[in-house]
Amino acid sequence: MIALGIEGTAHSIGVGIIKESQEKCRVLSNVIKTYQPKKGGIHPREAANHHATYLPGLISESLQTAGIDFQKIDLIAFSQGPGLGPCLRTAATAARALALSLDKPLMGVNHCVAHLEIGRGTVEGCTDPVLLYVSGANTQVIAFAEGRYRVFGETLDVGIGNCLDKFGRTLGMEFPCGPKIEQLARNGSSYLPLPYSMKGMDIAFSGLLTAAECHVQKKKPLEDVCFSLQETAFAMLTEVTERAMAHTEKQEVLLGGGVASNKRLREMVETMALARGAKFFVPSRDLCVDNGAMIAWLGLLMYQSGLRMRVEESVINQRFRTDMVEVTWRA
Ligand code: AMP
Ligand code: MG
Repeated sequence: MIALGIEGTAHSIGVGIIKESQEKCRVLSNVIKTYQPKKGGIHPREAANHHATYLPGLISESLQTAGIDFQKIDLIAFSQGPGLGPCLRTAATAARALALSLDKPLMGVNHCVAHLEIGRGTVEGCTDPVLLYVSGANTQVIAFAEGRYRVFGETLDVGIGNCLDKFGRTLGMEFPCGPKIEQLARNGSSYLPLPYSMKGMDIAFSGLLTAAECHVQKKKPLEDVCFSLQETAFAMLTEVTERAMAHTEKQEVLLGGGVASNKRLREMVETMALARGAKFFVPSRDLCVDNGAMIAWLGLLMYQSGLRMRVEESVINQRFRTDMVEVTWRA
């Protein structure tokens, strides 16, 4: 089977085409366009307009890159949530129109679950991981238990990427700020105290953000503030991930989301995994960030497990939680 997936939960609109071969995911194409606000955060309506503008071209480009035409597509998948309403509706409307006009089945999928499944589908040896999903808006530690992907820990306020972007904005950086902060942090060495705020298995970033901003106001070296911010935030993420691994007795950890590009985060999670005798995995960068291929892959897994979705059931859900999905495609 060949599936086309449309991703459009937030700043990126992506189209991916994938093929199943021996229960693994082969990516035939995966193209993406990212909305970049001139200043401030993502304006949902402006992002949706951006997506509507670029989506038709991306669909043609994805078919061209894959070297196939519409007739070869067996399924149209789209990101049903969670995300920004106007963006989700734009992607969903396009997916419905495609499915109806081509007379192909339609499948709405959970974006967070797709981040986990693309790891299992494309990374050799990755079969039953604990996923540390770190993106702009989302921060969750997810693992499979008794028929669902359960959230073992998550942010209580903003996502880690959002925390980094907000901090960077106060310094006048352009979105995305994570890579620029990472660069500065490399030249920092002196750890400045910051709140390590965890409640049970959950994390809060807003106090940490305010405290980091205070260090900047007090004219502490920027490199040290960035270094300390990363060390503190990533240590909290690594701790929750380790606790989830200990609880579930899983032997694999997978990173996903845009912040998974960060070398220091990778290093900390990998060190933890190796110390436990566990395996550490990161998908390739184009499959880590929001992308259409992961949406196509999850749609295909769902379809092949016997699930069907009528157009009436394809309404988007901005608050679509990871653990709302009944997992019918694996044991
Ligand atoms: P996503 O929402 O998954 O597309 O990821 C976007 C987020 O990842 C933004 O908040 C970026 O600032 C963040 N990001 C991207 N690259 C890095 C990096 N190298 N270090 C930290 N954060 C990053
Ligand atoms: Mg994402």
